[in-house]
Amino acid sequence: MITVREWRERLSEERAYDLIAELIEKARKNRYNSFITVTEEMALKQAEEYDRGERGGKLAGIPVAIKDNISTQGIRTTCASKMLENYIPPFDAHVVEKLKQEGAVIIGKTNMDEFGMGTTTETSYFGAVKNPKDDERVAGGSSGGSASAISGDETVLALGTDTGGSIRCPSSFTGIYGLKPTYGLVSRYGLIAYANSLEQIGPMASSIDDLGLLLEVIAGKDERDSTNSGRSFKYSPAEKKFRVGIIKEMNADERVQEVFDDFVSKISKFVEVEEVSLPSLTYALPAYYVIAMSEASSNLARYDGVRYGFALDSLDSWTNYFSRVRKEGFGKEVKRRIMMGSYALSAGYYGKYYLKALKVRTLVLQDFLKAFERFDILLSPTMPSTAFKIGELADPVTMYMADINTTPINLAGLPALSMPAGEVKGLPAGVQVIGRHFEENILLGFARMVERNEV
Ligand code: GLN
Repeated sequence: MITVREWRERLSEERAYDLIAELIEKARKNRYNSFITVTEEMALKQAEEYDRGERGGKLAGIPVAIKDNISTQGIRTTCASKMLENYIPPFDAHVVEKLKQEGAVIIGKTNMDEFGMGTTTETSYFGAVKNPKDDERVAGGSSGGSASAISGDETVLALGTDTGGSIRCPSSFTGIYGLKPTYGLVSRYGLIAYANSLEQIGPMASSIDDLGLLLEVIAGKDERDSTNSGRSFKYSPAEKKFRVGIIKEMNADERVQEVFDDFVSKISKFVEVEEVSLPSLTYALPAYYVIAMSEASSNLARYDGVRYGFALDSLDSWTNYFSRVRKEGFGKEVKRRIMMGSYALSAGYYGKYYLKALKVRTLVLQDFLKAFERFDILLSPTMPSTAFKIGELADPVTMYMADINTTPINLAGLPALSMPAGEVKGLPAGVQVIGRHFEENILLGFARMVERNEV
């Protein structure tokens, strides 16, 4: 893996053009299927600008890969769906504008679960992503392509999105660092929506400092996203005595739990650690899926084969046309979620499912806020297991269950990162570090201390 610091050292010795050309060649080979589109022309042009001294900024000359649900002007943005296979956005997402302003080199658009709906990147219309640590296994999802591109040395930095774990899960499975920011810290303008009230764009990298740097670039005020907090973020990792709580309700399989327990016993040599119970977490996963699917069913209504995306030649009756477009354009998992979400929102069931899920959401938030009266940081295993074999998770409910530790964080809008904690038979397992709203510097400060102590 390549850190920003290492890349800068290379830049001081070689032309950016040559370094980027080398990466592009790798990305083109696409050994892990990390990329849906390689933006060769743009990347080489940006590298040349850097070489001519015309590209400054916090990320000058640094390659960044972007998840393919984030709009890039003039570059197709597919959401890994047949529905948007040929969709070329006429504008840049807020985060892409920021990357460009800070001199980054955009090398490509990364593979993902279709519309972000999955935990393995197997629901992609463009095929599954392979894990660089073991290419018979998944890289996690839904930001699987961004994670494998970092873990497989195809980029230095990447953007992912996280609705219920999609940054943290693939980070855990591929042995990298990934952070889901506080809801409202990073503008969602230009992010193609899956479930608006839950998701954030966030940084993925191979070190804590690089996460902090990328977050600093993408966070900040943007009036085009009405849920944007208006706050900016300056990376300044906290140094203090952290009070750390271990969440009793968040567990993992035996082997991953061992890695986690080992991690906790090592950090307890230099921080105070105590167990804490958050009883409402038992109901968080089903509540998340009811809310996520309900929002998805509403968001995805816009794909009608008229305004943009996949279309058919013959137009018979409008209702026939609409359903044929959606039948052919969406994959199985997306259709399942649209149907379940519509069901949960329909008259007669709304109160029973959607409203109830919103109540659970409030309880989950309250439990977290209470725990944060005593602790600065809460910890859990990021995922209950290491990476699955490709094809192993055949039924959807088993896949949903894998999000048990990550989804509560999105319900509560909290920031959380996943950092590597160890391995089980050569497969990485991450620890989830959770903090108070807008206290990313505490999270990052804690994680950096752990990283420096080589836990
Ligand atoms: N696996 C979760 C889901 O399918 C989370 C996905 C995500 O964060 N985009 O909803």
